[in-house]
Amino acid sequence: AKSQQRAGYFYFSRNMGVEIRERVRMMHALRTAFSHNELFVMYQPQIDLATRRPVGAEALLRWRTPDGKFVPPDRFIPIAEYSGLIIELGEWVLRTACVELVRLRTAGHRAFTMSVNVSQVQFRHPQFLSMLRRALDDTGAPPEYVELEITESMAMEEPDMLIEMLNQVRRTGVKVAIDDFGTGFSSLSHLQRLQVDRLKIDRAFVTEITGSSRGSSIAEMVIQLGTNLGLSIVAEGVEDERQAQVLYHLGCPLAQGYLFARPMPAKDLGHWLARESL
Ligand code: C2E
Ligand code: CA
Ligand code: CA
Ligand code: CA
Repeated sequence: AKSQQRAGYFYFSRNMGVEIRERVRMMHALRTAFSHNELFVMYQPQIDLATRRPVGAEALLRWRTPDGKFVPPDRFIPIAEYSGLIIELGEWVLRTACVELVRLRTAGHRAFTMSVNVSQVQFRHPQFLSMLRRALDDTGAPPEYVELEITESMAMEEPDMLIEMLNQVRRTGVKVAIDDFGTGFSSLSHLQRLQVDRLKIDRAFVTEITGSSRGSSIAEMVIQLGTNLGLSIVAEGVEDERQAQVLYHLGCPLAQGYLFARPMPAKDLGHWLARESL
């Protein structure tokens, strides 16, 4: 048994070495990529299910390596968080999205909201609020049309710190959405204490709604909860018309997904909006 344990230990530590080395390699690659402009932002429209008109977009970070390969954000965001690069990177995404928002407003899209994902590492950073205010000031983005998406898992931790932060963020005029809602376990009473504007129903629950009759229960519950609390609700990952129909009939006002549009580069967003806003 003892030798087995030792063998197990060695196996474990050797893998750890590989994993850490891989992570360090990715960290360097990501830093280089950022300084070489391999990172860019794509925008995925959000639409009003009643009118089918666009109401906003979510900014999504992309990494394309020089040989044309895309590294998915689910792989590099955790590395950026771990290395602390997310502080700089997140600020750059926010500013880029704010500049795009201002450009769209100048082109006539005045009632259009730009949503930006914010990592908990950023949100906890002592300079987060001053960074946010500076980004708004420098770009001239109207705060009421900027929305920060924070994940539900973050919303569950350290409630007092979070409540205070949310109050400060909302004093800037910026909106807050809880992302991937339904994947965590936040209680109704907890949610009531958080000053947020919007819930985003996770794609996993949207996928389920056209399946078994029990499948719709989580999406349905989130829509009811959001409606009762007077919050805006967006369903994410809507891929087919049936899902859109069911969501609409359940009372979900807004949606985002491949059915309407895939994330697109800034240069295409203006054209897409001009066409879809007619
Ligand atoms: P998320 O915030 O939940 O973003 C939604 C993801 O669903 C995006 O993946 C989007 O491309 C994808 N999606 C949208 N519609 C559909 C659909 O109809 N079907 C399917 N199958 N997928 C759909 P993406 O762009 O790969 O981003 C993955 C995650 O990476 C995001 O999940 C978010 O958590 C994170 N992320 C992306 N950009 C940023 C960023 O700038 N900052 C931070 N902190 N995280 C980011
Ligand atoms: Ca999001
Ligand atoms: Ca989401
Ligand atoms: Ca999600």
